[in-house]
Amino acid sequence: VNLSNQIAAGEVIERPASVVKELVENAIDAGSSRIRIEFTDAGLKQIVVQDNGSGIDSDQIDLAFTRYATSKIANEHDLFNVNTLGFRGEALASIAAVSHVEILTNSANEIGTRAEFAGGVKKTQENAAARKGTQITVKDLFYNTPARLKYLRSPRTEIMKIVDIVNRIALGYPEIAFTLMNEGRILLRTAGNNNLRQTVSSVYGRNIAEKMLSFKSSDNDFEISGLISNPELTRSTRNFISILLNGRYIRNFKLASAVMAGYGNNLAAKHYPIAVVKIKTDPLLVDVNVHPTKREVRLSKETELSRLITNAISTVLLKNET
Ligand code: ADP
Ligand code: MG
Repeated sequence: VNLSNQIAAGEVIERPASVVKELVENAIDAGSSRIRIEFTDAGLKQIVVQDNGSGIDSDQIDLAFTRYATSKIANEHDLFNVNTLGFRGEALASIAAVSHVEILTNSANEIGTRAEFAGGVKKTQENAAARKGTQITVKDLFYNTPARLKYLRSPRTEIMKIVDIVNRIALGYPEIAFTLMNEGRILLRTAGNNNLRQTVSSVYGRNIAEKMLSFKSSDNDFEISGLISNPELTRSTRNFISILLNGRYIRNFKLASAVMAGYGNNLAAKHYPIAVVKIKTDPLLVDVNVHPTKREVRLSKETELSRLITNAISTVLLKNET
């Protein structure tokens, strides 16, 4: 047993939703335009993520499953200029350490490759016909780390966490067609036609999407755009505020507060808007290397960005009133 891989797995892979997030992010980094996710038993029995991206050459499979091996950055400089969702090279090794993994992939240079891993160890690899892209099947998650299983919540909650992360990622990439299936039922399907309102419609429903107001603004460092609900269309939690920084869904209390500040006194107490806020900026202004899951990032000029968001939203709401 490779203990250090299991320890690292604990930081990156907390629950089935973490597996889904990491596999989907890899599919996005591989340039996919279609990503299909299917799971059974709240992700504990099986998670399959299939993409039509670059695929992996047969002689690169071992490297892909080696911890701290990444094809996405080449040097220290790149570490501060991250243009991909992944870059730490931890996910596949971590997932493989705590499950049974099968990969079927084709880079279009060869016929294709199938390989199997158990507890982080490769068991088989062979040529196998496959469409261009990659399909990764994760079975029996946490079968060898029973302590992890005990930390999991109810299947219902774990499913909600999978749906939530796929929803957020889909909102960040309206140009990618996502399908999320649970035991034959479709939980999400986006068109991938690069239309944010349609993506919001797939995620939150048409009634909500139709009522959202669009905004757009920029300064020297940031371009922001997105859709926000009017002050009447609210929710009782902050969870309907999605901040997407260069496509990456991030948690940031200050920026979420900046969204709310845009509503001024128009939000009733304990009411929160629905908002999708896309931020584009130079990766050099973002330090993603703060936490293994990259959910929290350090951002230069956060105060300026907050002001830009608040102003853009209050302007749109004011225009909507008149
Ligand atoms: P990271 O994403 O940080 O590079 P991962 O462990 O998630 O690390 O993936 C390791 C490597 O495996 C990636 O750098 C990439 O080269 C390759 N890889 C993983 N998933 C895919 C995929 N779906 N399509 C193409 N290549 C992939
Ligand atoms: Mg990755």
